[in-house]
Amino acid sequence: MTKADDSTLNADDLRAVEERARKLLDRADAWGTLPTPIEDILASAQIQVAPTSLFDPAHILAYIRSKGGDFAHRIKSAVSKVFGLYDAGERVIHIDDTVVESKQNFLKLHETGHHELPTHRKLFRLFQECEKTLAPEIADQFEREANNFARFALFQGDAYARRAADCVLEIKTPMKLAGKFGASIYASAREFARTHHRACVVYVLEPIRHVRGNGAQAVVRRIEASPTFLRRFGRPADTLITPDHFLGPVLPIGRKMTRPVTLSITDLDGTDHECVAEAFDTKHNVIILLYPVHALTTTTIILPSGHKQRCTN
Ligand SMILES: [Zn+2]
Repeated sequence: MTKADDSTLNADDLRAVEERARKLLDRADAWGTLPTPIEDILASAQIQVAPTSLFDPAHILAYIRSKGGDFAHRIKSAVSKVFGLYDAGERVIHIDDTVVESKQNFLKLHETGHHELPTHRKLFRLFQECEKTLAPEIADQFEREANNFARFALFQGDAYARRAADCVLEIKTPMKLAGKFGASIYASAREFARTHHRACVVYVLEPIRHVRGNGAQAVVRRIEASPTFLRRFGRPADTLITPDHFLGPVLPIGRKMTRPVTLSITDLDGTDHECVAEAFDTKHNVIILLYPVHALTTTTIILPSGHKQRCTN
């Protein structure tokens, strides 16, 4: 199922979060250092990362019980999905060290966000992390704020967007920039689409599954689009990529990447645009990058032979 929005904030809240992240990068003297110096940033926030051996469900439950109160009760059902914890009293964060380092970087900055944002620190002596968005509205808002804090710190404000603008618009660019900034390809691809000055969209898919009788398909996890793309084409609402979907031919089946495939999509005014789509399989997700190359002045649909589908969104 498509994941709930994990990052949208109103303009005032976003500005306040980014201001806090900006100040921390100032204190850590982190601007311009690549990959983003996570340890320096944590040191400037006076945050410690707990020994990794603490991070297994049994230890976490014991740890939370030792904190007492109602909190332990509430977190129990969610504990299997915990990736990171922030303990405001101890100024300590706990990070699941079984996830890849680039994801740990984001988690560390996310937890640091809870520490650096004053309302978070005040209201949560111990803040839990879940893969799923939890019901309470305030927790949801805090998650979005911490995600934006992490995103701003990891990609150093608009430094990522400026670098991306100097690079070729192709899927290899967010892959390369991921390594440069110390981000996962997933986070990098999202940032790439959200901040790119040209029209482009990134589909993040769950791993491809083979469904008997229906062929290979992949559930859409998230779609991120650039502001220019959204204005011209609207926000795609696809939830499943099947062989019949216009992006079906782009699915990297039995291979790591799909080389650029030419196809056509129609904008909000009904004009067709020749587009290029390419894909990369990170093992955890499939990332598809789609971008228009030029408007088609005739009704000709450019598709590779054998591809009859045409995008209508
Ligand atoms: Zn959080």
